[in-house]
Amino acid sequence: MTPLSQRLSETILADGPIPVSLYMLMCLHDPAHGYYATRPGIGQDFATAPETSQTFGEMIGLWVAHQWREMGSPERFQLVELGPGQGTMMSDMLRASRTVPGFLDAANIALIEASPALRQAQLERLMGHAVTHYVRLEDVPADPAIIVANEFLDCLPVRQFVKVGTQWRERRVGLSGEAFTFGLGDAPSGYDDDVVQATIEPNVTEDQIEIAPGLETLTAALFERFRTAPGCALFIDYGPANTAPGDTLRAYSAGRQVSPLERPGECDLTADVDFRRLKRLAERAGMRVFGPVSQGAFLLNLGIGERARMLAEANTSKAQAIETAVGKLVNPDEMGDRFKAICLASSDFTSPPGFEQRQTQTHPK
Ligand code: SAH
Repeated sequence: MTPLSQRLSETILADGPIPVSLYMLMCLHDPAHGYYATRPGIGQDFATAPETSQTFGEMIGLWVAHQWREMGSPERFQLVELGPGQGTMMSDMLRASRTVPGFLDAANIALIEASPALRQAQLERLMGHAVTHYVRLEDVPADPAIIVANEFLDCLPVRQFVKVGTQWRERRVGLSGEAFTFGLGDAPSGYDDDVVQATIEPNVTEDQIEIAPGLETLTAALFERFRTAPGCALFIDYGPANTAPGDTLRAYSAGRQVSPLERPGECDLTADVDFRRLKRLAERAGMRVFGPVSQGAFLLNLGIGERARMLAEANTSKAQAIETAVGKLVNPDEMGDRFKAICLASSDFTSPPGFEQRQTQTHPK
């Protein structure tokens, strides 16, 4: 039993089995017992790209600086990061981009972070820079904006639906004795079936699907912003490029995959990002979309190989570790293929760097 198990059990006993999305939301963000609020395990429970190699944030920093120049180097713009974790990526971005004249003076650093513990960690990591925390993207001033997010979309709670006969039924978390179990809600699922159908992409052929309603909220917020001022958003995360996720909800603890129903609030919960749906939502809203391309191709296009070599030459005792870490980011059998990069932009942008087609995607180990 975890402290959150008690709260979840009470909720289920009072209202009946809860949608997977509410379970995920409570596990990650319950203010008293949620995973991110209380024990952010970035680096312990899971290792992210910025924590693997400084070159990752450096490449993103140069990308952002390039995009700022594409916008005509505005004197003031919002440099936004969604879910900055320990603040490592932003710190590496700012170091790499400081050579670009005028860039840092123009940047208002805006961080969107749900966890009080991580907000504190970010302030410490970015000491010396003026940083403003906001609760929601909508709260960031309506200036030109460049938005970045690594491993943020995979934390958005997902709803899961299973097709039984001709009807979609929602997967829910209930109780069997004291243990949590997955089950299906009554047909037609407690939700108006038309609502479910409208959320589900028209040509989905799968009989089990996973939908992050947060993608809709996010694309709507980006569209609103980019309608009034130029902007672009870069998302890097894992998930398939062209198929819809079915049941990808997973839990991690100390680097190990565990059951999502085990120890609620003490493990990281995550689901694949549906890039196909994100792209459609963004295009439907009238944004430009570049990618998704694999993370490996994206980083190699940006010159991570050259950067790794320079860094290795300057630190010969660490050369092997530097090359191994960069290999982890780009090689297809490690993070290179599973992770994708996608850019959503206002019509001011034509071809952000990194999204060109490329033939090979390996980095010598
Ligand atoms: N980008 C970092 C951290 C990834 S973990 C890295 O790559 O290392 C996910 C991050 O998103 C955490 O900082 C978590 O607290 C934050 N987060 C998750 N859901 C959020 C939400 N709805 N609003 C704001 N921040 C959120």
